[in-house]
Amino acid sequence: MKKGLLIVVSGPSGVGKGTICNTLINKNKDIYMSVSATTRKPRNGEIHGKSYYFLSEEDFKQKIKNDEFIEYAKVFNNYYGTLKSVIMEKIEAGKNVLLEIDVQGALQVKEKYKEAVMIFILPPSLEVLKERIIGRGSENDKTLNIRLNEAQNEIDMLHNYNYSVKNADLKTACKQVEAIIIAETCKIKIKKQ
Ligand code: 5GP
Repeated sequence: MKKGLLIVVSGPSGVGKGTICNTLINKNKDIYMSVSATTRKPRNGEIHGKSYYFLSEEDFKQKIKNDEFIEYAKVFNNYYGTLKSVIMEKIEAGKNVLLEIDVQGALQVKEKYKEAVMIFILPPSLEVLKERIIGRGSENDKTLNIRLNEAQNEIDMLHNYNYSVKNADLKTACKQVEAIIIAETCKIKIKKQ
């Protein structure tokens, strides 16, 4: 049985990676979007087990001790992580699994799972990214600057990824990510002797 792909999508806050991932999974029923665990409080409309597994810090730390995560990271003061139990079984069963995670977590995945397909979503420019974050209306001057600095730090890690997709136009960006997944599915994998 051919294993599924482990597809990692990262990019700065506000770049639209969540929208790209949701568009992809709504269109492609053969792609499974991993549900992460987090210590962040649920936002309006978020459902436990669907949006995230919302855990207490104590439970999250216990799972770190038990080695239950393929990766985890502290992002904007909360823990986020991908549970091995959520994704490895699906990959072994031939399903493509999509992880939308930050750069720190993505590097851990790459270290542990060399075949991971690493995709980075870029904004058209930092100026456009700034306008998009301001447009969401959720940040003050201080947190806006934190997010923009963080965005630059993340973009500096681009060389760790296999592909970059610029999100200037949502439809084009989705098409490009889809094309990457199709190409990776057709790729001939040579087993090392
Ligand atoms: P939010 O709180 O807005 O849903 O997500 C904040 C950030 O956490 C985003 O950059 C998102 O990609 C990242 N994130 C979500 N789930 C995970 C995860 O399982 N692991 C890691 N490392 N980052 C995650």
